[in-house]
Amino acid sequence: MIMRIICTKCREEMTKVILDRYEYVKNFPLFRIPAYQCRNCGNLFFTERMIEEMEKRTEELKIHSFGFSRTIATSGKGLVVRVPSDLASHLRLKEGEKVRILPVNHRGFLVEREE
Ligand SMILES: [Zn+2]
Repeated sequence: MIMRIICTKCREEMTKVILDRYEYVKNFPLFRIPAYQCRNCGNLFFTERMIEEMEKRTEELKIHSFGFSRTIATSGKGLVVRVPSDLASHLRLKEGEKVRILPVNHRGFLVEREE
């Protein structure tokens, strides 16, 4: 489907572009964002689908920028890291679920729900 989108300011036809960086929500920069832009005045327009995608990506960023810190505890011979309840509820993680632990580099590891 070809959509013609006209700039509300100067009535020029807008062209589809990919923005290198765009903050849909302040301080949560998104990268490579599709948009319509006016060649004349630079005005931006987003379709409903583009907005949904930006909202989704911003939500993901918010979750990943929790930046929580935790102190490692011990349990038997193993070590325990507690999962913050906000993160657990976002991921719908429940007690008894299986996760995989994958070393990433010398600084850390990834914990991932088993499929
Ligand atoms: Zn314009």
